[in-house]
Amino acid sequence: MALIVMKFGGTSMAGIERIRGVAARVRREVEAGNQVAVVVSAMAGETDRLVGFCREASPLADPAEYDVVVATGEQVTSGLLAIVLQSMGLATRSWLGWQLPIDTSDAHGKARIQDMETKALLESLQGGTVAVIPGFQGLSPAGRVTTLGRGGSDTSAVAVAAALKADRCDIYTDVEGVFTTDPRIVPRARKLAKITYEEMLELASVGAKVLQTRSVELAMKEKVRIQVLSSFSDEPGTLVVDEDEVVEQELIAGVAYDRNEAKVTIVAVPDKPGVVADIFGPLADANINVDMIVQNIASTNKTTDVTFTVPRTELSQARSVLESNAERIGYERLVTDDSVVKVSVVGVGMKSHAGVAVTMFRALADRGINVLAITTSEIKVSVLISEEYLELAVRVLHTAYGLDAAA
Ligand code: ASP
Ligand code: MG
Repeated sequence: MALIVMKFGGTSMAGIERIRGVAARVRREVEAGNQVAVVVSAMAGETDRLVGFCREASPLADPAEYDVVVATGEQVTSGLLAIVLQSMGLATRSWLGWQLPIDTSDAHGKARIQDMETKALLESLQGGTVAVIPGFQGLSPAGRVTTLGRGGSDTSAVAVAAALKADRCDIYTDVEGVFTTDPRIVPRARKLAKITYEEMLELASVGAKVLQTRSVELAMKEKVRIQVLSSFSDEPGTLVVDEDEVVEQELIAGVAYDRNEAKVTIVAVPDKPGVVADIFGPLADANINVDMIVQNIASTNKTTDVTFTVPRTELSQARSVLESNAERIGYERLVTDDSVVKVSVVGVGMKSHAGVAVTMFRALADRGINVLAITTSEIKVSVLISEEYLELAVRVLHTAYGLDAAA
């Protein structure tokens, strides 16, 4: 017998028919002799709808009341799933965030889980009752309803699994697992049997959003083994695990891309100490995330160009911050380009292998794709390229690292 947490996303919970499908999966685990806690999302589209109501009511909606509204989507699905499970003859009850409670910070709309009371929940599970827990919601120190930020039910599920010391945390979604790249671009992308927490975090940060990033950070910290799998098939999914559980390491786990990129070049800034601090200080103060940075060698007239990337959604804000600091920085002009994308290869295998970046640069060069900027971490190499080459780049890299499925 095992204690398992099953988490179902919005697509899996969208409507009573789908909820019946979810209930059938839960029953299977119960009949296999397991204790089961289920964490659910709101029906697909529901949270957007609720957020829309809040905006319509007032653009300056009180965050505490916003949470009262948006937390309801999960309350509905948890009650409905409990009703369906009961109708199948399974002892079941729902546990709302404030009832357990799941204690969070008071940062409404983006609260962090701090603690969870599990005594009553464990007793109920041990008595053979299925627990249904709405994801995304918690309770602030002031006793008010909080939510964890969009996509937060993944984090709820991992937190419940950690608090219950569950044997497994199965996250059911609308994809079959984690793939070597986006199958819409590369039809021969493969589903990975296992991926490490670190790789998963890097892939999420470059745009491959299967799990909320915070849920992976929490799983890594608490050593919760996650399985990502589909609600709509019976295939095994992808296990997200610790590095030493991945015995036969592939060099590269996946190729990811991010379209939310824009390039800024500051032309002819004085080449003297303190200039980069003058550039990036005000951007940091404005909470703008700078990612890739390239500083060119000074030209003979003692000036240099500095190029960096910011999220495309923050480009106009970055521009105005730099313009209002123009005098202090002392540059000639600003050039921006929002038709760029970042393509990354990620894999823990590169910690112990040289030449990974060269393979990437060579493969891109062979296709005439120009690299505009580069960044690396211990397990990732990213390049910035022109948007028009995105699909080609992802395809050639997928092939270059031997990731294509056998035809
Ligand atoms: N329902 C919430 C959202 O749409 C939380 C989640 O589904 O993870 O963001
Ligand atoms: Mg989600």
